[in-house]
Amino acid sequence: DDTNRETILEQRRNLPAFAVKHDLITTIRDNQVTIIIGETGSGKTTQLTQYLYEEGFTNLNGVKQVIACTQPRRVAAMSVAKRVSEEMNCKLGQEVGFTIRFEDKTDPNKTIIKYMTEGILLREILVDPMLTNYSCIIIDEAHERSLNTDILLGLFRNLLMKRRDLKLIVTSATMNADKFTRFFGTAPQFTIPGRTYPVEVFFNKNTCSDYVEAAVKQILTVHLRNSSMSSGEYVNDGDILVFMTGQEDIEITCDLLREKLDLLENPPPLDIYPIYSTMPSDLQRKIFTKKNLRRRKVVVATNIAETSLTVDGIKYVIDCGLVKVKLYNPKLSMDTLQVVPISLANADQRSGRAGRVGPGITYRLYTERAIDSMYIQPIPEIQRTNLCNSMLLLKSLHIEDINRFPFLDSPPKDLLNCSLYDLWAIGALDNLGALTQLGKSMTKFPIEPTLAKLILLASRPEFHCSEEMITIVAMLSVPNIFSRPKERAKEADMARDKFVIAESDHLTLLNVYTQWNINMGKRINISAWCNKNFLQLKSLLRVKDIRKQLLLIMNSSKLPLLKSRSDDDIRKCLAASFYHQAAKLTKMNLSGNPEFVSLRHNYMKMYLHPTSSLLDSNLSTNFVIYHELVLTTKEYMNYITVVDPMWLLQFGYKFYTVADSYKDKINLPITKKNGRNDC
Ligand code: ADP
Ligand code: MG
Repeated sequence: DDTNRETILEQRRNLPAFAVKHDLITTIRDNQVTIIIGETGSGKTTQLTQYLYEEGFTNLNGVKQVIACTQPRRVAAMSVAKRVSEEMNCKLGQEVGFTIRFEDKTDPNKTIIKYMTEGILLREILVDPMLTNYSCIIIDEAHERSLNTDILLGLFRNLLMKRRDLKLIVTSATMNADKFTRFFGTAPQFTIPGRTYPVEVFFNKNTCSDYVEAAVKQILTVHLRNSSMSSGEYVNDGDILVFMTGQEDIEITCDLLREKLDLLENPPPLDIYPIYSTMPSDLQRKIFTKKNLRRRKVVVATNIAETSLTVDGIKYVIDCGLVKVKLYNPKLSMDTLQVVPISLANADQRSGRAGRVGPGITYRLYTERAIDSMYIQPIPEIQRTNLCNSMLLLKSLHIEDINRFPFLDSPPKDLLNCSLYDLWAIGALDNLGALTQLGKSMTKFPIEPTLAKLILLASRPEFHCSEEMITIVAMLSVPNIFSRPKERAKEADMARDKFVIAESDHLTLLNVYTQWNINMGKRINISAWCNKNFLQLKSLLRVKDIRKQLLLIMNSSKLPLLKSRSDDDIRKCLAASFYHQAAKLTKMNLSGNPEFVSLRHNYMKMYLHPTSSLLDSNLSTNFVIYHELVLTTKEYMNYITVVDPMWLLQFGYKFYTVADSYKDKINLPITKKNGRNDC
């Protein structure tokens, strides 16, 4: 263990940040805001917090103060906190901890270094706008320009004037750094000198038709060409990092790679590590395992590995040139995940990952000409995403006139207006754009406003189903409840059918949880039960935990836990919360997918998501509400429940009928038409 500690210390001393520690600290001491620029792996995320701690920033005249470091992603917050706790030789969750949504691994009496998602810091600002417990805030990975980064930086412009003693440190890759400096007026830029080696870049000659196949081919070529034998064993010259877009193509890449390797007679050993943000953290940790010269490692990652996760020992980068981004279509109020070409800045960032330990090579799976049509910088999230959550938050912070908020880059008017309209539509804002009581209550829950509304309504005597609704909301907050391995898809579908409650995906989810919970109480092997039913035990355990936390929030808000008297209580509550996301059946396709039209979006055609339990049922009425709209090959409604159209009219009356006629009187710019419908 002592040798282990010595290695850790040695590693720390070797980081580029260590060499400039003194100047770095002086700059931070002399300025309220410091912009820090440094290569990936220079020690920004893991070292800065520790330096500040060593310099006494966690102790103000005997009073404990906290150093916070925000991350755009949950995964990074967890894994970095773990690493730093090891470096500081303490138990994770004590001196060093992390907080992400629904998971708090900190100790209010002990924690002095706290990694957290940006969303968590925003929620803390709601509770304590002065952030009194903190002495330093590091906004890490600011160049990524996540929506929450932008909102936080805007809020800090004001907060810093009220708290002159608070230090703000913004870390950034080279891209965007000047923008932050300008935003904060006189903030100095501190560059951590980095050791980087040249990276040779190869482009594809032709546009490839299948980037997964192309990537697998490239991995194999690199691997086979650059492995050699030494005293009877294989030796390799460095690891491979592959950039893909998301879980799906990452898994296919890994599968295909394994398949191809299996076909080879006597391949050099290759360890394959997928990494994406929703994968279990224990699996993610594996990518940090020590380099084994005899076994080459290939890490197949999303753009999480671009800057936020430092994987050491990479010599080869394979870049598919694409990234999955969330795009919000304000006309349809629909978030879509779309795969788009990366920007030049991203391409450079990705290539750079090959030159950290020595000269490296990057294979770009796109042509050199494709570069011409790339954006220089990625479009910041605030200009392309749903702003409902952020607007609700700003309204709760009494920022009444959103137009006067100091945005780094302003969101497009359309996006802003539609988000405000949506908040009005669900009753979070009144006709003058002010927060309603309902809207204020929604902010108590760290979930989408509509889901919060579900819980709030369900707690009223009229709807009387909060007991079930928190389960449904918790189930909707966790991906991958059902497992559906490709080779056993039929079996999985049959297992799933057993849980179906007619005409409602929401009630089906509730039923899954209820059955699981009953069996948890029995003395049976729950893991075997889950396997038999194609359910993911880990996800269900997480649901249980989230449910517990929602319950705590309900308690502290004095909301009663009410058991439903019938399923209709639940359906009614769903209609009352989701009337703005309703559709009407128009074509019952006997063979295929029935066709619906939206009651709102200019009668756009929509379909049942392939995983919906409604797909094979005869629908008793023609109206449904849906949780979300996803666009893949078609516009699919996801999580659907059949509702009585009278309920839609009853609860959504204002939305469906008054919206148009009041258009001029409402102080919100209403940009949507066709709010009216024929139900
Ligand atoms: P930066 O934020 O500047 O990109 P980091 O502080 O994240 O750099 O990383 C500094 C060093 O710490 C890197 O060499 C990285 O490999 C190592 N490191 C970071 N996280 C872990 C971890 N979870 N396990 C092992 N090493 C890690
Ligand atoms: Mg970092």
